[in-house]
Amino acid sequence: MRRKIFITYIILILFAVAIVGSYSIYINQVVFRENIKQRLLTNAKLIQYELSEKSDGHVIDIQAIADRYSELTGARVTIVYHDGTVLADSSRNAADMDNHADRPEVNNALNGKAGESIRYSSSLKTDMMYVALPVRTHNNIKTAIRLAMSLKEINHTSGSIIWSIVLAIIASLLVSLIQASLFSKSITEPIRRLSDASRVIARGNFENKIQVKTNDEIGELSDSFNQMADRLKVTMDQLNRENIKLESILSSMVNGVLAVDNSKNILLANGALKALFSIREEIVGKQFIQVVRSDLIDSMIDQTLVNGEVNAVEMSWSKGEFKQLKVSVAPIQRNGLEGEVTGAVVLIQDITELKKLEQMRKDFVANVSHEIKTPLTSIKGFVETLKNGAIEDKDVSMKFLNIIDIEVERLTRLISDILALSEIERSRVVESGKKVDVGHVIKDVVDVLKEQAGNKKIALKYSFDEGVSICSSKDRIKQLFLNLADNAIKYTPEGGSVFISAHKKDGFVTIKVEDNGIGIDQEHIPRLFERFYRVDKGRSRNLGGTGLGLAIVKHIVASLNGNIVVESKKGKGTSFIVNMPEGLV
Ligand code: ADP
Repeated sequence: MRRKIFITYIILILFAVAIVGSYSIYINQVVFRENIKQRLLTNAKLIQYELSEKSDGHVIDIQAIADRYSELTGARVTIVYHDGTVLADSSRNAADMDNHADRPEVNNALNGKAGESIRYSSSLKTDMMYVALPVRTHNNIKTAIRLAMSLKEINHTSGSIIWSIVLAIIASLLVSLIQASLFSKSITEPIRRLSDASRVIARGNFENKIQVKTNDEIGELSDSFNQMADRLKVTMDQLNRENIKLESILSSMVNGVLAVDNSKNILLANGALKALFSIREEIVGKQFIQVVRSDLIDSMIDQTLVNGEVNAVEMSWSKGEFKQLKVSVAPIQRNGLEGEVTGAVVLIQDITELKKLEQMRKDFVANVSHEIKTPLTSIKGFVETLKNGAIEDKDVSMKFLNIIDIEVERLTRLISDILALSEIERSRVVESGKKVDVGHVIKDVVDVLKEQAGNKKIALKYSFDEGVSICSSKDRIKQLFLNLADNAIKYTPEGGSVFISAHKKDGFVTIKVEDNGIGIDQEHIPRLFERFYRVDKGRSRNLGGTGLGLAIVKHIVASLNGNIVVESKKGKGTSFIVNMPEGLV
């Protein structure tokens, strides 16, 4: 910029100087020649006068007049007779000179007019200025006086003037160079500062102010620039605050959110969405289908972009970890609800857990209905048979009533297990302040089960650390031991043994219920704690099991922040090991 201004300035100055210079040289030449001409004419008039005066009746020596005037004026003086013969010449012998009638200035003078001419003189080898005047002698003889002067002198004089002009031009050019440099700097410096400041502002530093205080357009421009930067700062701050708000809302959302423009380029996506689809790289600006490879969602977006309606669907996602997703696509409209659709927002909810729970609830209801229906059908059958006359036979009716009693018992157990389960699920929080003495509970449980164990000749033994306790309710801990020990006795053949223990270490209590019974195949162990899951359905039912015992155990352990593991070998026996924090209150 500065270079441009500098060069333009210099070119303009050169141009102006060249015009002024050449014009002055031209004017100088013209004025100079005019001066010479006037001088020659004045002198010619003097000679004209002298010749016409003196010739009046006198013999005159015209050669002497020519020589004298030549000496006085420095010009060459020639006197020409009316027929063109040279009568006298101050520079040459008149007799040697050719007829001058054809010389334009002489011709003019002989015709009674003043004549002038500039031409090259081959005899003097220079440009000459000629001026001629007519002279009429007393006897009316026409002659002409001609004065000539070499222009060499004029050229010489104008050469020195030209040199002075050129020197003046060079001097003024030098001054102009300095001035051009200062001038271009004075223009470009504020612009440079303006552009430096705009670069800083473009990098996001709106605090930067332009310090240009001039009273011209650039000063005004920098003032407006500073005002613009201030407004930009306010707007950017506002935008930043909005952005932070939006980002924190989006990032704290558990559901995946993604927005696309009407070409399906991603505008924004939150962390939950990236986590859902295991995306690590930056996805803003990319095409939706390149990032989330789902033709279904892609076509839902297309639909919403076309009809501006909300679309929702539940779908399975099996790329990577299997997931159940609920996808809703809503339009982004320019002016509220009625405007042109400019994009779409995709909301994705991971409903895998929800679906699992729903399935579990459905399974549970189906299982409960089934578990209730079986004894009820059996009871109904026996009641019908009794009503149809079997009641008359005392032995048969007694047998039937015993079966009905067993089924009712089973139903009662089932109902109480279901109630226990829902009770534990409802109040998962550990009841603080109640320290349960585990030793006491073990003794109680052994008292309850010792008859059952005795019937099967099972040795029921126990051991515990003195003072071992858990923070909970006594009923819950008792239920835990009862369920595990009852199972151990149920699934251990006659003559076997069951061992219950509770020991404490490093603030934790380890409870073990071991038996040397039938054992469990490894394949069943992962599902053992599911509701109504039984390894051998028939055996469990015959033994009066409800299929809910271990589910209850799992929930109790979870409510006490503990964990449970199963170690088992088919035919060798099973150990249930529970670890939970000791009750320190
Ligand atoms: P159930 O009322 O059928 O005993 P549970 O939930 O208490 O129901 O137990 C689930 C299944 O786990 C049982 O049906 C049984 O197959 C298996 N099981 C539980 N405890 C033992 C054990 N100590 N030895 C072998 N199998 C066991």
